[in-house]
Amino acid sequence: MVNRSRTIIDEVKDRLDIVDVVGSRVELRRSGRNFTGRCPFHEEKTPSFIVNPQRGSYKCFGCGKGGDIISFLMESEKLDFKDALKQLAERAGVQYEEPKPAAPEEESAHRRLLEINKLAARFYNHLLLTSADGAQARAYLEGRGIERAAWETWTLGYAPNSWDATLTFLRGRKYRPEEILAAGLTVERTGGGHYDRFRERIVFPIRDRDGNVVAFGGRAMGDAKPKYLNSPESPVFTKGAHLYGMDLAQGNIKYENRAVVVEGYVDAVVAHASGFGNVVATLGTALTPAHVRMLSKLTRNVCLALDADAAGDMAAMRGWEVLRDTVRQRYIPFKSRGRIVGSQRDLEMNVRIARLPRGEDPDTLIRQDPEKWRELIANARTVVDHFFETVREGANLQTPEGRNQVLSELTPIVSDIGNAIEKAHYESRLAQLVGLSEQDVRNEVARRRQAARTRRTEVSSLTPVQQVAVEDMVLALLLRYPRLVAEAPEDLMADLEKSQNREIFARMKELGPEGLTGEALIESLQDPIRQHGLVLLGLVDTQPELLSNEQPEELRRRVALIRRRRLQDLIAQHSVLLREATEMGDQAGVRALLESVPSLVGEVRAFDPPKSTYFKDTRS
Ligand code: ZN
Repeated sequence: MVNRSRTIIDEVKDRLDIVDVVGSRVELRRSGRNFTGRCPFHEEKTPSFIVNPQRGSYKCFGCGKGGDIISFLMESEKLDFKDALKQLAERAGVQYEEPKPAAPEEESAHRRLLEINKLAARFYNHLLLTSADGAQARAYLEGRGIERAAWETWTLGYAPNSWDATLTFLRGRKYRPEEILAAGLTVERTGGGHYDRFRERIVFPIRDRDGNVVAFGGRAMGDAKPKYLNSPESPVFTKGAHLYGMDLAQGNIKYENRAVVVEGYVDAVVAHASGFGNVVATLGTALTPAHVRMLSKLTRNVCLALDADAAGDMAAMRGWEVLRDTVRQRYIPFKSRGRIVGSQRDLEMNVRIARLPRGEDPDTLIRQDPEKWRELIANARTVVDHFFETVREGANLQTPEGRNQVLSELTPIVSDIGNAIEKAHYESRLAQLVGLSEQDVRNEVARRRQAARTRRTEVSSLTPVQQVAVEDMVLALLLRYPRLVAEAPEDLMADLEKSQNREIFARMKELGPEGLTGEALIESLQDPIRQHGLVLLGLVDTQPELLSNEQPEELRRRVALIRRRRLQDLIAQHSVLLREATEMGDQAGVRALLESVPSLVGEVRAFDPPKSTYFKDTRS
């Protein structure tokens, strides 16, 4: 499953300079921040063609052509979007993959793996309940306070002490050894053949949200190593993408509007049996972005219940980093096996950390003192408070080194707080803690933030919301309210600067108000434009809830916004060309450019114009 909301289109545009690409066909000269030249699309003696490297756009005042690097190549080489992009990708050294449709055999192989897992889970469960050598497993579960009802609910099982019990059972059900291997239930022997992966272990089937068994976690009986053994990754199981108990917990999480995350299988099972149905467990990993996305669909409130020891704090630190990085990305469209599953946006999560008393495990605490557990979760601290506490405990504030350490550990956390009031609060707390003035701490936080921002633009692989262009938002609005497609102005196409938006808008018009849905649109697109379509789809849920009479109004407002911005650009660019022609004593050029003034004036008049003294200047 590949998540690329940063599309190949963006990558190509980032890597290539439009000045180089246009400049290989048109002689360009620098004029301030722009470049000018003679238009390749119509005959002219004097330049009325201008390239803006900051925006990555070009515009001709003679023939009106304009757009981005891709439309330039499409126009000048008579290529379609895909071929133009392919050429540019090659030039940019970006790998361009031909989209391939999902093969039907892949589909059925996937289904068979799920069947194998389901059968194996029933097989292990049966052995737990009935087999003679399952006695030890039964005793273990009873000893941990896990009752028989839970064995059934979670399909807990026992993998016998055998090299081929699982293999033989599944082969008896007509599954091929390679399939059983692919499901992760067997391991390849060096000399050839296969043997069972799970032997003499208690088995916890790991299920996806829909209840399909996708993998297994096995806990050793006695001293066997490793203590915990998980299935390897397979076509149906991605590490870090599943939470144990999600299928059972999702309803409760939604209902209680809070998810509690623990680390162990047993903790989750015991929690549910004790009436805490909103508990899920990571599978021996830290919290991952995929976990956060999954939880964010159900609730904004997540509580991490962690051990008291340093490992717990480390886990929290990793969890915090993941959350922070995930929260930053306001929308993440994602696909599963080539089909759109949905789009995630606005991951504003309220994360709290419940630190368990030293030496306590969640499962023992829940069993012995459920009231205390309830209290612990209810009083969980915010992540920032948790770090203030943890860092302070670990440092000696009496020494300059200690204070310095506290400052350098807490500054990045404070600098990530988005809410201004909250941030001021923690800046002041940090100042008190280390004995600096609030101003000094603010400066330090600001410096840190700047550094982080620079780093982030370098490494960021997703598009943050502030970079979303207004024209993307116009198309997202059309997707949200398809009937507006009929009301979009005729010439909206010309307002779209990104060539991928032009392509998508054309598909939208073809589908029409009746046929336009997110699904239908994406179906009508091919990668890599499809990728951009997914980005737009991800913006749909960020669109305001509007009454039907307000919708056209909002569309007009946004189109006016694009036009105003475009007009400002046009006027600035036109004036560059005019100044140049005047300076060079190019009478014909001046005349030609002045000829385009009436149409610019017309555009200005078409809607509320921006403040400009431009026309007055040129006439005097
Ligand atoms: Zn032209």
